Amino acid sequence: MQIYDALVIGSGPAGAMAAYEMAVRGLSVCIVEKERLPRYKTCGGGVQARVLRMLPFSIDPVVERVVTGMQIGFGLRRPFLRYYGQPLIYMTMRDRFDRFLTEQAVLKGAELREGMRVDSIRQDESGVIVSGPEGTLQGRFLVGADGAKGVAARMVGLGQDTRRYAAMEAEVEVAGAACAVLPDCARIDWGTFPSGYAWTFPKAEVYSTGAATLESSKVKPYYEKYLRASLRGSSPSLRRLSGHPLCFRSKGAPLHAGRALLAGDAAGLLDPFTGEGIHHAVLSGQIAAAVIGEEAGRRTPSLARYTARIEETIAPEMEHAEILSRVFRLTGRQVHGAIHYNDRAWNAFCRLLRGERTYGDLLRRFDSLPQSLHFFGRAVMAVWGE
Ligand SMILES: Cc1cc2nc3c(=O)[nH]c(=O)nc-3n(C[C@H](O)[C@H](O)[C@H](O)COP(=O)(O)OP(=O)(O)OC[C@H]3O[C@@H](n4cnc5c(N)ncnc54)[C@H](O)[C@@H]3O)c2cc1C
Repeated sequence: MQIYDALVIGSGPAGAMAAYEMAVRGLSVCIVEKERLPRYKTCGGGVQARVLRMLPFSIDPVVERVVTGMQIGFGLRRPFLRYYGQPLIYMTMRDRFDRFLTEQAVLKGAELREGMRVDSIRQDESGVIVSGPEGTLQGRFLVGADGAKGVAARMVGLGQDTRRYAAMEAEVEVAGAACAVLPDCARIDWGTFPSGYAWTFPKAEVYSTGAATLESSKVKPYYEKYLRASLRGSSPSLRRLSGHPLCFRSKGAPLHAGRALLAGDAAGLLDPFTGEGIHHAVLSGQIAAAVIGEEAGRRTPSLARYTARIEETIAPEMEHAEILSRVFRLTGRQVHGAIHYNDRAWNAFCRLLRGERTYGDLLRRFDSLPQSLHFFGRAVMAVWGE
């Protein structure tokens, strides 16, 4: 049996980009995907502009709309409309987007095993064996990038403390839907619950609509209310209505075990403020590839540096985003008003989406204010705990 340098479970953005970067480094890689591509994925498909800064190729062939403005409502009331003038979010359908990323990895030399569901992972000091009803594969390293519903985390003994919440998503056909969403705008409702929001993202043939809150039992009624409000009372047919978990890593949790590591949703790397996950999926996939590339040549490799690199890069941003999210839960109306009327707040929000600012930059700016939101946020964290 061929022994690959690395096996990657999952062909989402984390797995595809890990495979791409490892193939570029000359490693032999096999992506193992349980579905046949293109496969549907419950997701808004909004690729924030900051993601494009990290990708080594253009995603133009799979971009359906370019969003330069936002329609943001508070508590299901009429949204305000603001444009930024530059791209904020690139709208994709995830089946096409993910297949495109995977194709780029294959073009660089990665192999793809579609329709192979992994249901067992075994490892020892020298490598990893994954198997399922469709066969067995062997590799020196493993990237578990099988998403929020995957098996890799549990099978390698990680992710026990991951927090899980619920989201819902459906596609609404554009034809016949009296949807009050402009083709170059993302529509968002927040503030209906202290935590969570609903969205409508314009695509070529559908609107992707969804809702997520930290109170899982309220997602469905909220989503139904939001649809009634945003679709102006018409009742178009929903396609592919589905629920999906949102996973958040607990602070300090290890993301490697022996020769396996976790990336993307499997590692719980969602952004706690926006619930967006493609950015950290791509970044963690790239970090995974870099670390495996470096460790592959060592006699006694260790993936501890992967967890350490995530701690240095993604974890601080998740912590800062969590602070903002908690501040929003307490002062949502004020934040909404600031983004509506205050140019600096609106520009800061847009620069965040574009990757020109980080959450850390935003909080550092609050530090200079007399009533420091930064320390307020930290106090909230201290009182509420993790
Ligand atoms: C309702 C909703 C809306 C969202 N909207 C957005 C958005 O607009 N923008 C954004 O940035 N993020 C959004 N997210 C988050 C985003 O979907 C995820 O963060 C992102 O998909 C993570 O990518 P990934 O590669 O880690 O995992 P995934 O994209 O989930 O890919 C995992 C892959 O692994 C495969 N797999 C699973 N189990 C196995 C197995 N046993 N064997 C083999 N293969 C397996 C799956 O088939 C899948 O292809 C949303 C999430 C939800 C739930």
